[in-house]
Amino acid sequence: MDPQQGGWPGGLRWRGPPQRVARRGAGLAAVTTKMFEADEIYMRKALALAREAGEAGDVPVGAVVTSGDRVLAGGQNRRQRDGDPTAHAEVEALRQASRIVGNWRVEGVLYVTQEPCPMCSGAIVNARVSRLVYGCPNPKAGAVDTLFSIATDPRLNHRVEIVRGVLADEAASLLRDFFAALRAGDAK
Ligand SMILES: [Zn+2]
Repeated sequence: MDPQQGGWPGGLRWRGPPQRVARRGAGLAAVTTKMFEADEIYMRKALALAREAGEAGDVPVGAVVTSGDRVLAGGQNRRQRDGDPTAHAEVEALRQASRIVGNWRVEGVLYVTQEPCPMCSGAIVNARVSRLVYGCPNPKAGAVDTLFSIATDPRLNHRVEIVRGVLADEAASLLRDFFAALRAGDAK
């Protein structure tokens, strides 16, 4: 998805800092495009984890934490399987990443297929994640843009750079198909 050509997935508007950089000149726009390509690569890994969660009967959401060019950790929603209300993909990924880093301060970039809920947005701030890249919006619980702005609230002591709408259509269709199958199962 090239910001120069418009057309964000899911009709989302790009509001992250890279666009401001891109406006300044063609050379920097190329850097922005490259950054976005990398975002898609890691988002595909998060989507694969989301798919696994869905196949196991959990709402399909997946997350990946990177540091530089390295994938530190991945997580998938396990709420149903673990009977744990905190077992969201982002928390799972941050827990794993902090074990690897050996520090609660994970920093790095978190990729997640759907806009984080209030709990996960709080965890992202608490882990001092520097950049959050998410796929589709979360109309019922989104706490980054939709219902609250936890990750960018200036009253908190850490603010996260946000990139929205990366492979949003794929993330949304995974969720749509999952809930359609659930409803079809219920109807039998
Ligand atoms: Zn969550």
